Amino acid sequence: MSLNARLIEEVAARRDDLVRLTQDLIAIPTLNPPGDNYLEICEYLDRRLSGAGFETQMIRAHGAPGDSDKYPRWNIIARREGARPRPCVHFNSHIDVVEVGHGWSVDPFAGVLKDGRVYGRGACDMKGGMAASIIAAEAFIAVCPGFDGAIEISGTADEESGGFGGVAYLAERGFFSPERVDHVIIPEPLNKDRICLGHRGVWWAEIETKGEIAHGSMPFLGDCAVRHMGAVMAEMEASLFPTLAARRTDMPVVPDGARASTLNINSIHGGEPEQAKDYTGLPSPCVPDRCRMVIDRRFLIEEDIGEVETEIRDLLETVRSGRPGFDYDIRELHRVLPTMTDRSAPVVGAVAQAVQQVFGRAADYVVSPGTYDQKHIDRIGRLKNCIAYGPGILDLAHKPDEYVGIDDMEQSAQVMALALLDLLGAPPVSSC
Ligand SMILES: [Zn+2]
Repeated sequence: MSLNARLIEEVAARRDDLVRLTQDLIAIPTLNPPGDNYLEICEYLDRRLSGAGFETQMIRAHGAPGDSDKYPRWNIIARREGARPRPCVHFNSHIDVVEVGHGWSVDPFAGVLKDGRVYGRGACDMKGGMAASIIAAEAFIAVCPGFDGAIEISGTADEESGGFGGVAYLAERGFFSPERVDHVIIPEPLNKDRICLGHRGVWWAEIETKGEIAHGSMPFLGDCAVRHMGAVMAEMEASLFPTLAARRTDMPVVPDGARASTLNINSIHGGEPEQAKDYTGLPSPCVPDRCRMVIDRRFLIEEDIGEVETEIRDLLETVRSGRPGFDYDIRELHRVLPTMTDRSAPVVGAVAQAVQQVFGRAADYVVSPGTYDQKHIDRIGRLKNCIAYGPGILDLAHKPDEYVGIDDMEQSAQVMALALLDLLGAPPVSSC
């Protein structure tokens, strides 16, 4: 039997283990915010991976945003050396999940099995993917104990809130540098036959329009900041939104609607603060003297971030030139450059070939509309040979009744195991 066939069989033989591992991970409710149970899940992974012969390190992101003694940002990195230290294939999964929300028909932390699926918060995003990568590594080591290179598996905090207490923290300390790691696979739920090369860029900003407070019965004595913001929105509708929608990209972003520049108005607030729900009185009559809007601009690899920013500033200046009394501030909140791994990168080729072997068809290449931890691996770690590949349907992420298909997990684990063989190589079959 070929090594490939043995690997595929070895993963299939671990199907029950794969399901149990996924259920165990779901049963540790690692909600973020606030960042619950990070230590518990890292200790669970420590036991599992130490048992499989990995050297493990637990690293707390001291001083990272969100880190406190009550909610420590724990991460785990496990490494299994083969015959040589290089090349190193690294599987990175985030351990956190988002809030449960309403509308569930099953217990979100029970790991309910139904219709060939495992249900739960984090099932597809991304505890199922993490379990698949662990099973893939364990199966590979069982079939090829004398493999070349090294395998790393990390469980990292806070991806859902920016990754600063997770991958960013570790990347700053060299854990994702080209001196240590050669290939990175992030098992986010991008579907079992798709390779995600990267993501669009992000520019968040807060725009504030200014006015003058006065009695609401005599608004002509004040200056209404909300009306000024209305003028900003009118200008966006007239000029900016059509321009952005027409700006298409060669990045294979999915879904198709995201294959253009987009802008979301995340929030808008003007006038006096909203009162608590138990306040039963009326509001007071005032002309609002400030109005704030938070915008979320997603941009393309063909766009320059400086031009993205200038475009918004120019729009505000256009409004100013046609509107007496208009005054504003703009403040950047967050920026991430777009990233896209080259299709000729070795990790892309290995996973594409493995997808072809397991599914009998070519892999699709996609780019994510939103960012994920690849941004830190690219910018801080300076590691370009990185993709997202994993089981699960992206649309189910963060929804009620989130699930991951067991067949999908098993097949993804087979793809990962074959990719390991391709990237690391193995000594002659006789010693495997
Ligand atoms: Zn995720």
